[in-house]
Amino acid sequence: MYTRTLLKISGEQLKGKFDGGFDAERATWIAHEIKQATDTGASIVLMVGGGNYARGAQLTGNGIGRVTADNIGMLATLMNGLALADVMNACGVPTRVLSNIKTDQIVDQFTHRRAISHLSKGRVVIVAGGIGRPYLTTDTAAVSLALELECDAVIKATKVDGVYDKDPSAHSDAARYDRLTLQQAVERPDIRVMDRAAIALAADHQQSILVCELLKSGNIAAAIAGNQVGTTISA
Ligand code: UDP
Repeated sequence: MYTRTLLKISGEQLKGKFDGGFDAERATWIAHEIKQATDTGASIVLMVGGGNYARGAQLTGNGIGRVTADNIGMLATLMNGLALADVMNACGVPTRVLSNIKTDQIVDQFTHRRAISHLSKGRVVIVAGGIGRPYLTTDTAAVSLALELECDAVIKATKVDGVYDKDPSAHSDAARYDRLTLQQAVERPDIRVMDRAAIALAADHQQSILVCELLKSGNIAAAIAGNQVGTTISA
């Protein structure tokens, strides 16, 4: 069983049935999935993406600079974090948001000490604002935060149930890997787990990553309990 887990949820997962924005019904479903894990005593840090509102790389252009676009992307993660925390608290999962961008009026600033303090009280900590700097994604921020908060694994809960040797939606003979090494994930261009900066950081520090399907009920709790779910990428 993982004692502490960094769970990365992308904005795409939070838009649920909508084309964009935040679907509170989907968030409620996710909150109940997380509750299954926290009820067993698991400690969870959540890194939320913002792609349901904005992604810096896509927004850049027509006069919008990359730094502005990335700042907007980080604000998007804050919107998700705020809404998800309310939903989680309403579902009986004590949760706090800490932000890596300065928005004192709205949420507390992330500090290592604050995060550890909330976690030690059994709260889920949602970290918004990624890592707080442009030219990065929440995948990289997730790995960095997992290292900082000594998480046993980064769980990337996504729409596919693991890492495949080829695109499973286009190839019926695509095969899923149960295990990969971090070295393979860095070296092989056919293996797409996270962006390169995120994988390189994980490989440099032997941070295990697990890729699994979010929308399969019980998956997050099973992964945290140490059952074989999705693809594990480790040293
Ligand atoms: N972002 C950033 N620095 C960070 C994390 C995120 O600049 O440390 C910006 C970046 O523009 C990114 C956007 O915030 O595209 C939203 O994050 P991401 O694309 O990772 O969200 P996801 O695809 O997981 O929903």
